[in-house]
This record gives sequence, C-alpha cells and structure tokens, in this order.
Amino acid sequence: MRYAVDRYAIGTEIEVCADDFYGKYIPNKLSRFRCPECGEIVYFRSKGGNQPNHFYHKVKTDQTPECDKRVDGHAKLSLYQRVGLSLYLTGVVSGNLQLNIGFPAIGRHLLMQAETQKLIVNIIGDNNTKIAKRIDSSNFFEDRLTLIPVNFVPKNTRNYSIEISGTSSMRLFSKQWAGFADGFGVGGAIFSFEETGGKKIRRGDCISTQRTYYLVTKIGIPPHKEIKCTEIGKLYLKNNAYKVYVFEINVDLDNKARFLAVSDYFNRFFGVVLLEKQPELIPLWPPVVVQEFFIPVKNNSSVVCSVSSGNSSPNVYLYKEFATAPVDLHRNRSGGYTTEIYVGKTPSILSVDRKYVGREAVFQDRFIIRPNFSYEIQIERPNHVITPWDKVTEDIFKSDFSVIANSKMELYIGSLNRTFRYEPIRSALTAIPYKTNTNEMYLIIESGIAFHIKAHVKGQRIEIEDKELAKSLTNCICGQMVPIPMWAYYGIRLLKRNGYLQTYHKIMALINNQEISIALLKQMRKPEFMRITNLNKLIK
Ligand SMILES: [Zn+2]
Repeated sequence: MRYAVDRYAIGTEIEVCADDFYGKYIPNKLSRFRCPECGEIVYFRSKGGNQPNHFYHKVKTDQTPECDKRVDGHAKLSLYQRVGLSLYLTGVVSGNLQLNIGFPAIGRHLLMQAETQKLIVNIIGDNNTKIAKRIDSSNFFEDRLTLIPVNFVPKNTRNYSIEISGTSSMRLFSKQWAGFADGFGVGGAIFSFEETGGKKIRRGDCISTQRTYYLVTKIGIPPHKEIKCTEIGKLYLKNNAYKVYVFEINVDLDNKARFLAVSDYFNRFFGVVLLEKQPELIPLWPPVVVQEFFIPVKNNSSVVCSVSSGNSSPNVYLYKEFATAPVDLHRNRSGGYTTEIYVGKTPSILSVDRKYVGREAVFQDRFIIRPNFSYEIQIERPNHVITPWDKVTEDIFKSDFSVIANSKMELYIGSLNRTFRYEPIRSALTAIPYKTNTNEMYLIIESGIAFHIKAHVKGQRIEIEDKELAKSLTNCICGQMVPIPMWAYYGIRLLKRNGYLQTYHKIMALINNQEISIALLKQMRKPEFMRITNLNKLIK
C-alpha cells in the first residue's frame, strides 16, 4: 500500500505517502507506521528502480488484500462503504441504555422502491444472532438517520454484517449504506459524548485528553488513575451485561510513560488511540446548529472553521464520490489554521488528518428544526434600560450590554474584520463587553436560532463605499514607483481593519517589491480616503 498512518511521536498521527520517505533515515521505523484500514503495524519498503515505494503488513491475514485495495483507493467504494455504518448509544437520560445501528437517509424514491420490492435488511452477528427489518416507511425515515436497536455484539471483535435480501439490491444502497458496521473491541467500545447519548468511536480512530466520552465495558473500571470514571448504568445485550461510564482522561504528554500506558490500554481493549489533540473542524462563522449535520444559520454560505490538529501542518480532506481531495488552509499569524467551506444543498463532507476513519464532519444547507418553547431573553444596556430581545436594534453594538436569560444558550458575535466571538450564556445575567467593529450577532438555543441581528446600515454603507474606492484605483496601476511611506502603511492597515476589504486587496495587489506607484499615493491622499483611514493626522 502507498499510504499509512504515521505515529511519528507519542500522541500524534498523520497520514503519509511511502514516497515521502524514499532515501531518508526513518527513526523508529519498525513501530511508527500503521495500516489505515486494520490498524496493524506496517513497514516501509523501497526496492528502487521502477518498483514503487510502499508499506506492507507485518503479518498477512485474510484481510490484507482487502486493506491494500481500500487504502490505495483502487476500489470504487463510497465513504460509507469504507467506514461502515455507525453505532449509537441512546437512552442515557431515561437510564434505559440501548445500542443501535444508524442507517443514513436513503431518500423517498429509494425507500418507496424498496417497499415495493419488499426488501429486507439483515443485521447479522453470527448464526444465532440476527435482526431483520423490512425496508419501508414504517421502519425507516426517508430524510434522516434511522436508528435500529440491536441487542447483540458480534463475537471475537468481529464487525456486524449488513445484508439486504433480494438480488444485487445492496448496490442500490451503496451510496448511503454499507455491508458492515464496526464491532466492539475485546473490552467493549467508546462513544462520543452528548447529553442524550453518543456515536461509537470507530476502531482505528482516536480519542483525546480533556474530553468527555462514554465507556461501554465488560472488563470493569479502567486501572489507570488518569481516567476519571462515573458509572451511569448498564447495557444489557445477549449473553453479556456491559457497564456504562462517563469518563475523561487527564494525562500530560510530558509524562511519556503514563501517556503511553493510557494510550496502550485504550488501543488494546477498545481499538482506539489516544492523541493529545482531537483532529477536528471547529465552525467559527456563521454559527452552525447541529442537527445530525452541521447546518449554517445562513443559507448558501461559506463557513469559516478553525482546524484543530496535533500536527504542525494539518491536512483537511474533502470527500468526492470515490476519493478525497485536500482543502486549502489559511495560516493565521498565531500559527493556527483556518479553512473556508462552501455549504450548499449537497452535503460537504470533510475530515482532519485522516481519511476514511469514520469521524467526518458533514455540512449541509438544510431546513433547521426550531424549538417551540418560549424563552425569556432580555438585553440590558449600561443605563439599566431593559429591552426584550425582539425589540433590540443595532444600537446594541455601540456599548457593553448584558443578556438576561432563563435558559442556557449560545451567543455568537461577528465583526467587520472577521474576528468572531463565542459567549456561552450559562447564568441569569451575562455581561458582554464592547468591541469595535462588531456588526452581527446570533443567539442560539437548543440547536435552533432564536435571534439574529445585523448592523445593516453601517455594513451596507461600507460595502458601497468599498466598491467605489476600489474602482477609483483602476487608473493608478502605471507610473513611477517609490518605496511605501509609513503613513500609507497605516492607511492600508486601517482599510482592512474597518472592513474595506476590496480596496485593501486591490492596493495590496498593486504593491510590488515594497514599492507603490505615485499615482496610487495621490489617490490615497484624497478626502474620501482620508475620512476612512483617518490619515490627516499622520500626513504632514
Ligand atoms: Zn491492514
């Protein structure tokens, strides 16, 4: 195989191509590479000549040819066919814990077709454990994930097998469904944490420190003091009762021995690896609500995301039908990375640092299901004037204010210079300090938007002025070039800070080798520029 997972240092991993290592000294080369499919150790081999560099499995198993095929993407497999269906834990609130397999929506047309053909899906563990469900509108949703309860786990860490009755009918479902679902490790399984339940962390994927997860285990409480556990109930499956805990790991990477011991425990018993930092996309603006997918609160928008990764140069992959493509990342001055994802009606599916591992983030422009409870939200201004949220105007952006609320909610604040603030509202009164350039805000409750306000007038005015100014620069391209004076530097920076981005980019494009044309400098001294950039004080 050409690709492998490189665990080049404790608590880190990255997907690499064999060609990257040609002719190089590779420290720890006998233990650092893993098969992205089965997680077993693989070795680097370079034979030279016209033989490609590659990785190979240490121990050949029945699965090896399948791994090679999947890892190198020769097989025309959709994302779901590669990662399998996901397992979900539900019933945390009621205490009646339940294990389910999630079947993604197949759409009205396909569901009707299956119903007419009387198709049945079988979830199989072994000869004695099997669940059959007719594929029809009484058992499956056409437009969202359907959870089918399962009361067994396949023996010997095998996967669930998913079969559909009828001739060649699996192919119909191959875009959304898979022939398997990830089984348990020898100790049980780890699930992501939401208050009501979680999604299973697929074997081969990772967990990270300082985060909450569910542990479904039959081997008892973890024997490491760095894993803080609270028992929340039991999950009864055929032949086995599992204990369910909520847990968090607190171990520092500087304490290598302890980090390794904890990582080894999770790898051995649950098939997951401990990383220092969770590889993930964190949506910044506009806010998104999480309803199965990430849904931006603005239709047809781009979502700016920050990229969390333990690697100094992370990769973000966008899934195409049978393949992936890397996404452009923007490096901030602070060294972090962001990326901008266009979100439309077709789902945009992305993953950080690893492909086909089952931890994709899905963004889609969809109808947001809004909460139908009533909330009391009021805004208090510094002069103690209290306004109900639906009467608030853009004046709110001109000073400090406080949010008075009777429920927890999330406040997102945007600004003209594309810096974003997130303020969780967790108490009856939350003070929000004033910041310049603030122009937009969303208040989100229970995953539905409650409140949106934008400073229209100022925003629009800037937009119009920006266009005009940018246009006025068109004739400044030619002429004699001089080194950029200090006042012009300030002016350019202020344009950017105040949201005159078209003009800013145009000027930046006209600067060549730290020099600027005299015609452009003349233009920048005109009153319409001076008013915006406040430069009159600087130019003597
Ligand atoms: Zn493998």
